[in-house]
Amino acid sequence: MHLNPGYRIGDITITRIDELSLNGTLPSRLYPKLDPQLVEENRDWLMPGDLDPASGHLIQSIHSWLVRTRHHTILIDTGAGNDKLRPLNPLFHQLNTPWLQRLAAAGIQPEQVDYVLQTHLHVDHSGWNTCLIDGRWVPTFPRARYVFPQREEEWYASPDSHNEVNIPNRGVFEDSVAPVIAAGQAERIGPDGGDFLDNFQFIPTPGHSIGHMSIALQSQGEQALFSGDIMHHPLQIMAPDLNTLYCEWPEQAQRSRQRMLTWATEHDALVFTSHFARSSVGHVSRQGNVFSWQYA
Ligand SMILES: [Zn+2]
Repeated sequence: MHLNPGYRIGDITITRIDELSLNGTLPSRLYPKLDPQLVEENRDWLMPGDLDPASGHLIQSIHSWLVRTRHHTILIDTGAGNDKLRPLNPLFHQLNTPWLQRLAAAGIQPEQVDYVLQTHLHVDHSGWNTCLIDGRWVPTFPRARYVFPQREEEWYASPDSHNEVNIPNRGVFEDSVAPVIAAGQAERIGPDGGDFLDNFQFIPTPGHSIGHMSIALQSQGEQALFSGDIMHHPLQIMAPDLNTLYCEWPEQAQRSRQRMLTWATEHDALVFTSHFARSSVGHVSRQGNVFSWQYA
């Protein structure tokens, strides 16, 4: 498990809370339209941290970001969660990981969390919203406000979303989102995004999911971007048009990815990804129309 000492943006600290490390997917499976040449051209710097030399599989991570400001304790996205029934998505079926113990090791008990911010409501971003107690799904963070894009709620609460692309997310709204709404702990971000608390900004980046938003953070002139699922692996920095098989609105996903890569370079932002391996954090730079990535 990767250990990082944490990051600082102005007077705010950011710590990664690991859930799973993944190494089971061939690039051509995650990216159906992948040109194999792209992997060839980048294998020298992708191996061994991002691409397994033995199997050729992508190496990825699932984790949350713990953000501590002077006033608040905040989690950004909540992984896949324990005990969830995901028979159609075996990777996340009935997990039993020590994610809560890792949160405790970072110094945080569930009742200390003030806000849970979500980029979107997919299976690997909503799981620890709730935990199973006496056979019921209850909010894991009893005092927290859970904040997510309203459009995501409308879509995943509706039978319209129960299509083939969303098979991996089957059951997620019911066991991981509906209980926090029922508990009166949900707060919605409207379709235009906007500022939140003193330091955050929700930026609409639709495409991977219908109401997906990235979350910017600024403090004392320094800037971070929690990119959510606009990217799943550094290959997409080199090829921003590359969508995963999970990107539900492909053209919007391409536009959002291009736009936010540009945004990250213009704001000199430290980018905190949802699924990159190694530290999962880095800087995007740009030469002409070509982006590149340096881990931080
Ligand atoms: Zn994801």
